Amino acid sequence: MAQETGGINRLLQDVLKRPGNETCADCGNPEPDWASLTLGVFICQACSLLHRSIPHISRVKSIQETWDASDIELMAALGNTAAKAKYEQKVPAFYYRPTHTDCKLLREQWIRAKYERNEFEFIEKQEPYSAGYREGFLWKRGRDNGQFLSRKFILYEREGALKYFNKQDARDPKAVMKIETLNATFQPAKIGNPCGLQITYLKDNSTRNIFVYHSDAKEMVDWFNAIRAARFHYLQVAFPGASDEEVRAFDLTLQKYL
Ligand SMILES: [Zn+2]
Repeated sequence: MAQETGGINRLLQDVLKRPGNETCADCGNPEPDWASLTLGVFICQACSLLHRSIPHISRVKSIQETWDASDIELMAALGNTAAKAKYEQKVPAFYYRPTHTDCKLLREQWIRAKYERNEFEFIEKQEPYSAGYREGFLWKRGRDNGQFLSRKFILYEREGALKYFNKQDARDPKAVMKIETLNATFQPAKIGNPCGLQITYLKDNSTRNIFVYHSDAKEMVDWFNAIRAARFHYLQVAFPGASDEEVRAFDLTLQKYL
Protein backbone atom coordinates (compact mmCIF):
# COMPACT_ATOMS: atom_id res chain seq x y z
CA MET A 1 0.00 0.00 0.00
CA ALA A 2 2.96 2.29 0.66
CA GLN A 3 3.69 2.38 -3.03
CA GLU A 4 0.13 3.43 -3.81
CA THR A 5 0.23 6.23 -1.21
CA GLY A 6 3.46 7.46 -2.76
CA GLY A 7 1.77 7.53 -6.16
CA ILE A 8 -1.16 9.50 -4.81
CA ASN A 9 1.15 12.00 -3.12
CA ARG A 10 2.95 12.49 -6.43
CA LEU A 11 -0.38 13.28 -8.06
CA LEU A 12 -1.04 15.86 -5.36
CA GLN A 13 2.44 17.33 -5.87
CA ASP A 14 1.67 17.66 -9.59
CA VAL A 15 -1.53 19.59 -8.82
CA LEU A 16 0.40 21.84 -6.40
CA LYS A 17 2.85 22.78 -9.17
CA ARG A 18 0.12 24.13 -11.43
CA PRO A 19 0.10 27.91 -12.01
CA GLY A 20 -1.73 29.69 -9.18
CA ASN A 21 -1.30 26.83 -6.70
CA GLU A 22 2.31 27.70 -5.87
CA THR A 23 1.26 30.56 -3.57
CA CYS A 24 -1.39 30.76 -0.84
CA ALA A 25 -4.81 31.64 -2.32
CA ASP A 26 -5.45 34.14 0.48
CA CYS A 27 -2.17 35.85 1.44
CA GLY A 28 0.25 35.02 -1.40
CA ASN A 29 2.73 33.22 0.85
CA PRO A 30 4.83 30.78 -1.25
CA GLU A 31 4.56 26.99 -1.04
CA PRO A 32 1.17 26.49 0.61
CA ASP A 33 1.02 23.21 2.52
CA TRP A 34 -2.68 23.12 3.39
CA ALA A 35 -5.83 22.90 1.31
CA SER A 36 -9.49 23.71 1.73
CA LEU A 37 -11.37 20.73 0.33
CA THR A 38 -14.69 22.56 0.28
CA LEU A 39 -13.36 25.65 -1.53
CA GLY A 40 -10.73 23.88 -3.65
CA VAL A 41 -7.84 26.20 -2.74
CA PHE A 42 -4.28 25.68 -1.52
CA ILE A 43 -3.42 27.87 1.46
CA CYS A 44 -0.58 28.42 3.94
CA GLN A 45 -0.70 27.15 7.51
CA ALA A 46 -1.49 30.58 8.98
CA CYS A 47 -4.49 30.97 6.66
CA SER A 48 -5.58 27.38 7.36
CA LEU A 49 -5.99 28.37 11.02
CA LEU A 50 -8.31 31.20 9.95
CA HIS A 51 -10.26 28.83 7.69
CA ARG A 52 -10.80 26.59 10.71
CA SER A 53 -12.81 29.40 12.31
CA ILE A 54 -15.38 29.15 9.48
CA PRO A 55 -15.93 25.35 9.41
CA HIS A 56 -19.36 25.71 7.77
CA ILE A 57 -17.58 27.18 4.71
CA SER A 58 -14.16 25.58 4.72
CA ARG A 59 -12.85 22.13 5.65
CA VAL A 60 -9.05 22.09 5.68
CA LYS A 61 -6.50 19.30 5.28
CA SER A 62 -2.71 19.26 5.38
CA ILE A 63 -0.93 18.07 2.24
CA GLN A 64 1.17 15.85 4.55
CA GLU A 65 -1.88 13.74 5.41
CA THR A 66 -3.09 10.77 3.40
CA TRP A 67 -5.27 11.84 0.52
CA ASP A 68 -8.04 10.03 -1.34
CA ALA A 69 -7.80 10.04 -5.11
CA SER A 70 -11.23 11.73 -5.27
CA ASP A 71 -10.04 14.68 -3.14
CA ILE A 72 -6.99 15.13 -5.38
CA GLU A 73 -9.26 15.10 -8.43
CA LEU A 74 -11.38 17.77 -6.80
CA MET A 75 -8.33 19.97 -6.14
CA ALA A 76 -7.18 19.41 -9.73
CA ALA A 77 -10.59 20.47 -11.06
CA LEU A 78 -10.72 23.59 -8.85
CA GLY A 79 -7.46 25.16 -7.61
CA ASN A 80 -6.37 28.71 -6.81
CA THR A 81 -6.75 30.25 -10.26
CA ALA A 82 -10.35 29.08 -10.69
CA ALA A 83 -11.20 30.13 -7.10
CA LYS A 84 -9.73 33.60 -7.67
CA ALA A 85 -11.86 34.02 -10.80
CA LYS A 86 -14.94 33.23 -8.73
CA TYR A 87 -14.34 34.66 -5.26
CA GLU A 88 -12.27 37.72 -6.26
CA GLN A 89 -14.02 38.63 -9.49
CA LYS A 90 -15.11 42.12 -8.31
CA VAL A 91 -12.54 43.24 -5.75
CA PRO A 92 -12.56 47.07 -5.92
CA ALA A 93 -9.26 48.70 -6.93
CA PHE A 94 -9.03 50.51 -3.58
CA TYR A 95 -9.74 47.41 -1.47
CA TYR A 96 -6.82 46.30 0.68
CA ARG A 97 -5.61 42.76 -0.11
CA PRO A 98 -3.66 41.52 2.91
CA THR A 99 -0.36 39.67 2.70
CA HIS A 100 1.08 37.17 5.20
CA THR A 101 2.77 40.01 7.15
CA ASP A 102 -0.52 41.80 7.90
CA CYS A 103 -2.35 41.55 11.21
CA LYS A 104 -4.69 38.63 11.85
CA LEU A 105 -7.78 40.82 11.78
CA LEU A 106 -7.17 41.97 8.20
CA ARG A 107 -6.34 38.46 6.98
CA GLU A 108 -9.36 36.90 8.69
CA GLN A 109 -11.79 39.50 7.38
CA TRP A 110 -10.41 39.12 3.85
CA ILE A 111 -11.07 35.38 4.03
CA ARG A 112 -14.57 35.92 5.45
CA ALA A 113 -15.34 38.64 2.89
CA LYS A 114 -14.36 36.30 0.07
CA TYR A 115 -15.84 32.97 1.05
CA GLU A 116 -18.42 33.62 3.78
CA ARG A 117 -19.97 36.94 2.72
CA ASN A 118 -19.20 36.61 -1.03
CA GLU A 119 -18.55 40.36 -1.14
CA PHE A 120 -16.56 40.23 -4.36
CA GLU A 121 -19.19 38.37 -6.35
CA PHE A 122 -22.00 40.83 -5.59
CA ILE A 123 -21.25 44.56 -5.82
CA GLU A 124 -24.26 45.50 -3.64
CA LYS A 125 -22.51 43.80 -0.70
CA GLN A 126 -19.71 46.41 -0.98
CA GLU A 127 -21.93 49.34 -0.07
CA PRO A 128 -20.58 49.71 3.50
CA TYR A 129 -17.24 50.90 2.05
CA SER A 130 -17.97 51.99 -1.50
CA ALA A 131 -21.01 54.27 -1.14
CA GLY A 132 -18.97 57.44 -0.49
CA TYR A 133 -20.71 58.03 2.84
CA ARG A 134 -20.34 56.26 6.12
CA GLU A 135 -21.28 57.20 9.66
CA GLY A 136 -21.10 55.41 12.96
CA PHE A 137 -19.50 55.25 16.36
CA LEU A 138 -15.89 54.35 17.06
CA TRP A 139 -13.97 54.15 20.32
CA LYS A 140 -11.40 56.93 20.20
CA ARG A 141 -8.42 57.26 22.51
CA GLY A 142 -8.45 60.48 24.52
CA ARG A 143 -5.50 62.79 24.00
CA ASP A 144 -4.81 63.36 27.70
CA ASN A 145 -5.73 60.31 29.76
CA GLY A 146 -5.55 57.59 27.08
CA GLN A 147 -9.09 56.44 27.85
CA PHE A 148 -11.25 55.29 24.94
CA LEU A 149 -14.53 57.15 24.48
CA SER A 150 -17.33 56.54 22.00
CA ARG A 151 -17.32 59.17 19.26
CA LYS A 152 -19.47 59.69 16.20
CA PHE A 153 -17.57 59.65 12.89
CA ILE A 154 -18.80 60.73 9.47
CA LEU A 155 -16.89 60.07 6.25
CA TYR A 156 -18.32 62.03 3.35
CA GLU A 157 -16.55 61.88 0.02
CA ARG A 158 -18.47 64.78 -1.47
CA GLU A 159 -17.25 67.06 1.33
CA GLY A 160 -13.77 65.55 1.04
CA ALA A 161 -13.55 64.93 4.76
CA LEU A 162 -13.71 62.55 7.69
CA LYS A 163 -15.11 64.24 10.79
CA TYR A 164 -15.71 63.25 14.36
CA PHE A 165 -17.93 64.77 17.02
CA ASN A 166 -17.34 64.88 20.76
CA LYS A 167 -21.03 65.02 21.66
CA GLN A 168 -23.71 63.05 19.88
CA ASP A 169 -25.84 66.14 19.21
CA ALA A 170 -22.94 68.50 18.54
CA ARG A 171 -23.30 70.51 15.34
CA ASP A 172 -19.64 71.35 14.97
CA PRO A 173 -17.14 68.55 14.56
CA LYS A 174 -14.21 68.27 16.95
CA ALA A 175 -11.92 67.58 13.98
CA VAL A 176 -12.20 67.74 10.20
CA MET A 177 -9.65 65.49 8.48
CA LYS A 178 -9.26 66.20 4.80
CA ILE A 179 -9.39 63.08 2.64
CA GLU A 180 -6.42 64.32 0.60
CA THR A 181 -4.16 64.12 3.67
CA LEU A 182 -5.76 61.06 5.27
CA ASN A 183 -4.09 57.71 5.85
CA ALA A 184 -5.12 54.71 7.96
CA THR A 185 -3.15 51.68 9.14
CA PHE A 186 -3.95 48.84 11.50
CA GLN A 187 -1.73 49.05 14.60
CA PRO A 188 -3.12 46.43 17.01
CA ALA A 189 -0.01 46.20 19.21
CA LYS A 190 0.47 49.96 19.47
CA ILE A 191 -3.19 50.58 20.31
CA GLY A 192 -3.61 47.48 22.48
CA ASN A 193 -6.67 46.22 20.60
CA PRO A 194 -6.89 43.66 17.76
CA CYS A 195 -9.09 46.15 15.84
CA GLY A 196 -6.89 49.20 16.58
CA LEU A 197 -6.64 51.61 13.66
CA GLN A 198 -4.29 54.59 13.48
CA ILE A 199 -5.63 57.47 11.41
CA THR A 200 -3.05 60.03 10.29
CA TYR A 201 -3.83 63.41 8.76
CA LEU A 202 -2.33 66.82 8.22
CA LYS A 203 -3.54 69.88 10.07
CA ASP A 204 -1.88 73.28 9.81
CA ASN A 205 1.03 71.53 8.07
CA SER A 206 1.72 69.18 10.95
CA THR A 207 0.96 65.46 11.18
CA ARG A 208 -1.75 64.44 13.62
CA ASN A 209 -2.76 60.96 14.74
CA ILE A 210 -5.90 59.57 16.25
CA PHE A 211 -6.34 56.02 17.52
CA VAL A 212 -9.66 54.24 17.18
CA TYR A 213 -11.24 50.81 17.27
CA HIS A 214 -14.62 49.14 16.80
CA SER A 215 -15.49 46.03 18.79
CA ASP A 216 -16.74 44.36 15.57
CA ALA A 217 -13.89 43.34 13.26
CA LYS A 218 -15.97 43.58 10.05
CA GLU A 219 -17.09 47.11 10.96
CA MET A 220 -13.49 48.21 11.55
CA VAL A 221 -12.24 46.74 8.26
CA ASP A 222 -15.22 48.36 6.48
CA TRP A 223 -14.17 51.74 7.94
CA PHE A 224 -10.59 51.12 6.81
CA ASN A 225 -11.69 50.32 3.26
CA ALA A 226 -14.18 53.21 3.19
CA ILE A 227 -11.27 55.57 3.97
CA ARG A 228 -9.22 53.91 1.22
CA ALA A 229 -12.14 54.25 -1.22
CA ALA A 230 -12.51 57.96 -0.44
CA ARG A 231 -8.79 58.54 -1.00
CA PHE A 232 -8.80 56.52 -4.18
CA HIS A 233 -11.76 58.46 -5.61
CA TYR A 234 -10.13 61.77 -4.58
CA LEU A 235 -6.93 60.78 -6.45
CA GLN A 236 -8.90 59.64 -9.51
CA VAL A 237 -10.31 63.16 -9.73
CA ALA A 238 -6.92 64.77 -9.00
CA PHE A 239 -5.18 62.70 -11.68
CA PRO A 240 -7.73 62.31 -14.47
CA GLY A 241 -6.93 59.62 -17.02
CA ALA A 242 -4.65 57.70 -14.63
CA SER A 243 -5.15 53.93 -14.51
CA ASP A 244 -6.15 52.17 -11.27
CA GLU A 245 -2.56 50.97 -11.00
CA GLU A 246 -1.21 54.52 -11.36
CA VAL A 247 -3.67 55.86 -8.78
CA ARG A 248 -2.49 53.19 -6.32
CA ALA A 249 1.13 54.18 -7.00
CA PHE A 250 0.32 57.89 -6.44
CA ASP A 251 -1.36 56.96 -3.18
CA LEU A 252 1.69 55.08 -1.88
CA THR A 253 3.97 58.00 -2.82
CA LEU A 254 1.74 60.58 -1.15
CA GLN A 255 1.46 58.50 2.05
CA LYS A 256 5.23 58.80 2.50
CA TYR A 257 4.78 62.51 3.16
CA LEU A 258 2.34 61.94 6.00
ZN1 LIG B 1 -1.88 32.40 3.54
